[in-house]
Amino acid sequence: MKTEIKKIGVFTSGGDAPGMNAAIRAVVRTALYHKVEVVGIMKGFEGMISGEFMDMDMHSVANTIHRGGTILKTSRCPEFKTPEGRKKAYDNLKAAHIDALIAIGGDGTFVGVDIFGKEYKMPIMGIPGTIDNDLYGTDFTIGYDTAINTVVNAVDKIRDTAESHDRLFIVEVMGRDNGLIALRSAIGVGADSVLIPDSKRDFDFLIKRLEMGRRYKSSKIIMVGEDEEDGGFGMRIGEMVREKFPNYDTRVSVLGHLQRGGKPTCMDRVLASRLGVSSVEQLLKGRKGEMLGLVHGNVAYTPFAAAVKHIEDINDSMLKIVEILSL
Ligand code: ADP
Repeated sequence: MKTEIKKIGVFTSGGDAPGMNAAIRAVVRTALYHKVEVVGIMKGFEGMISGEFMDMDMHSVANTIHRGGTILKTSRCPEFKTPEGRKKAYDNLKAAHIDALIAIGGDGTFVGVDIFGKEYKMPIMGIPGTIDNDLYGTDFTIGYDTAINTVVNAVDKIRDTAESHDRLFIVEVMGRDNGLIALRSAIGVGADSVLIPDSKRDFDFLIKRLEMGRRYKSSKIIMVGEDEEDGGFGMRIGEMVREKFPNYDTRVSVLGHLQRGGKPTCMDRVLASRLGVSSVEQLLKGRKGEMLGLVHGNVAYTPFAAAVKHIEDINDSMLKIVEILSL
């Protein structure tokens, strides 16, 4: 492969997601396969600014494909939002002879690399690593499949206690503003209803659903998406349900950070491997400023500015499936 790129820097940034290690592994091994050097940048933009770099070889990524989290660690780095912070990062990359970057992260990370790539004419490709599945230009992000499987396993257990005690459980899950973890896992666990902040279904709709079903069903599961703005959405819904239906034994369970951890599913490992290989090969062919994704089974490329727009609305047909199947 003909290229002027001799050394690639790879890093993970923002929220960690299962499958990030599989992506790092694919990037490192593909670069070495094409005889290009590869450096791991520790803790995302923070390590870029402090110059925390690690030479990677075949062995650096051995035994990592099955591990959650990220071996390169990650961070949120407010300093990278400043021109001074980005200048420090660029000076360190230059001193280490890093010609190009592969960023594994979510929308914040891609906003950052979009600015940085244009500011310093640095070729950068992005790999979507986030449990939220909230990027435009890929059907799935790395980590999402593992997270929803974690949720489904947890709610199956909650269902045991809900049924044994005739309880109504409100289960709050992560997913930022788009509620995709709540929606898909609601179908997977056979939930009675799903409520997502800012979706077209409101509390009155939930009440109607509960009134319809309460005569013959003693336990219930309601999936609720988190509300990033002020938090506590599940608790608030719990209070309202208790007030309206004092006869229900209502409990709220907030699944929290356990949704981020654990071994990646095979789907996430394969997705990470495919996008990792393509990211290096496309960078070497001259592509830059784009996020890779998988659309209808094929690798696709979306400019960073478009990828972070979250233009996908809540899928009405998925909401309808929850309604039909919970009758
Ligand atoms: P994620 O990538 O998972 O969405 P964040 O939203 O926390 O995570 O973003 C990760 C990092 O990206 C931030 O900590 C910051 O360093 C960088 N970033 C986000 N927005 C910008 C911006 N407007 N300019 C420069 N860097 C940014």
